[in-house]
Amino acid sequence: MENHLQQLTNRIYYLPDDPETDRPVMSAICGTDQTLIVDAGNSAKHAKLFLDELDQWQITNHHAVVLTHWHWDHSFGTNQLNRLTIAHENTKMHLEKMMEYDWSDEALDHRVEKGLENPFCSEMIKKEFGADREITITLPHITFKDKLEIDLGGIRCVVKHVGGDHSDDSSLIFVEEEKVLFLGDCLYPSIYTKKPEYKIDNVRRLLKNIEMFDAEMYVLSHESPLSKHDFMGYTFLLQLICDVSEKHQRDHLNLVNELSTRLNRKLNQLEEEIVDCFMNGLSVS
Ligand SMILES: [Zn+2]
Repeated sequence: MENHLQQLTNRIYYLPDDPETDRPVMSAICGTDQTLIVDAGNSAKHAKLFLDELDQWQITNHHAVVLTHWHWDHSFGTNQLNRLTIAHENTKMHLEKMMEYDWSDEALDHRVEKGLENPFCSEMIKKEFGADREITITLPHITFKDKLEIDLGGIRCVVKHVGGDHSDDSSLIFVEEEKVLFLGDCLYPSIYTKKPEYKIDNVRRLLKNIEMFDAEMYVLSHESPLSKHDFMGYTFLLQLICDVSEKHQRDHLNLVNELSTRLNRKLNQLEEEIVDCFMNGLSVS
């Protein structure tokens, strides 16, 4: 299926995620002077598709891209975009480390064996880039520590570092005038641990940070944008699992029992998976 640019609000457009090769959402925030791109895509091809779509919509003046975090699927398109690149200082640090890597099948398999690469990411990199693999990692030009404000003309973006289990550099982008919050992958569990993990304290800190931004639409990178109502349902669930797993610790049976009592139904598959991530997070602390 062809993937095309969608309009999210009056001044925000996005290219939906594509699970085929784990492509995340790419977005454009359009001020009267400048357009800011959110995330660089997972390859030159992905970045090019996005730029072509912007062209078709006659969206111009895009001179800068902000990265939500360093993971390959959000950063490997940076070189193709060839724009001023803005990211958290840890994003730059992680990308610097990755610049030394070899991306052949053998090198990827070797890193997976040593626990340095996530098996799913390795598989998706192979699929996205094929046999003829050319991966050029470029570093951000501008970095920040806590937060940064970008004025695009009539529209201001707050870029704020929040970290979390998924990646220590995760940053969100809030557009107050459009009431949109871009969350990247920050709410997802860790992927560079043996098993995916959530740690209670990290999730609570993250939810507190997110609460400070009053949005109507929430954009997570690997799913469709969520309304406030749906997003609140999601954070309520995470909050609830924090509380219940703090109480029951590694007692999986009682944890699940109390959770289904509180929800008044059996857990669905996503909820089961979230519980497992919390169990994984507890077992290593
Ligand atoms: Zn990620």
